[in-house]
Amino acid sequence: MNQFSKEYLVVAQNASGRNMHVPLYRFSGHRPGPKVYIQSSIHGAEVQGNVVIYHLVQWLKQHSICGEVMLVPNCNPVGTNIKSGEYTLGRFDPVNGTNWNRGYLYDEDLVTSFAQTVLAEESVASIKQRFRAQIKKRLQQALDAPWGIGLAQQLNLKLQQLAFDADIVIDIHNGPVSTRHIYIPKYASAAATQFNIPHVIFIPNKFAGALDEATFCPWWSLAEYLKTNKGREIELGVEAFTLEMGSQEVINFTEGEYDARSILSYLNSKGCLADADVGAENIARYAVDLHHYKTLFTHQGGIVEYLAKPGEHVKQGQALARVLNVDALDTPDATETITAPCDLIPILHFPSASVLSGTQLYKCFTHYQQLT
Ligand SMILES: [Zn+2]
Repeated sequence: MNQFSKEYLVVAQNASGRNMHVPLYRFSGHRPGPKVYIQSSIHGAEVQGNVVIYHLVQWLKQHSICGEVMLVPNCNPVGTNIKSGEYTLGRFDPVNGTNWNRGYLYDEDLVTSFAQTVLAEESVASIKQRFRAQIKKRLQQALDAPWGIGLAQQLNLKLQQLAFDADIVIDIHNGPVSTRHIYIPKYASAAATQFNIPHVIFIPNKFAGALDEATFCPWWSLAEYLKTNKGREIELGVEAFTLEMGSQEVINFTEGEYDARSILSYLNSKGCLADADVGAENIARYAVDLHHYKTLFTHQGGIVEYLAKPGEHVKQGQALARVLNVDALDTPDATETITAPCDLIPILHFPSASVLSGTQLYKCFTHYQQLT
């Protein structure tokens, strides 16, 4: 059976000078295999991932793996504990306003200068080992910088140091009111049919601050550089994903078990599990390129009934939402219907019924294609 260990990583310190730490659950198999890193709840209100990790821990206690799996539930102890009345305000670092999933580091110049040191005869294992050491050194330099960095960035870089050791990185999130969807880098598109997630967003090799991008951009860029400038094609075997496991502020144990099996199915396809009978489900999967994943902003403020449910297939002109304007109850303008600008699948919508103008009301798949 797997070896198990548990330790704690300090990721922040509160105003009383007390360390705030996260648990690291590590399972190591007796056979070699990929290293896997899975974290949840970097956004404090997005809690379903903790149930998914709970189910993964139960599974990993019973079944052998190849390689190593590290699990970091509730990886943002600051964000989880920022409540305002009934709600968790876990999206932004309260001190600096930074999104908790935008403070990771990617240094393109480091990738380019490293690529120039790769010799024609150097093995992939050696390239990976040297590259990891350089990136982790760079992360430590950023953490140790004499002028310091913000709270979110400190926490992000400490987690990124762990994640960059892995071949497979999975960052579990939730939408506001949302159906399940996954962000997949274009080069790893085969993974789309291994997860049991019905909505897939293919993303380019572009860094915007998130953990999945901070993981795959360096490797993808390194492979591209070596191909273009040195005529060498290498398979680095690193993949990273953001999984959106339904709506924030709620957990569901039954769905969490399904979500865990979805991750296990993908891990099995990558050779991480020893003799496990876990495969992808035969479900309908729809995919878009990132630029076809569109946000519908409100022109008006008011009180909204959300008519289209996440995951529904909506035709152009069909009603998405109905808005009540309390300033015009005695006139024909008391209500207004917001309709779909084109055929679409709403993936998530704003969680509150009261909205200001310019609110991100829905995020939708447009020009989608059916994958399976
Ligand atoms: Zn999130």
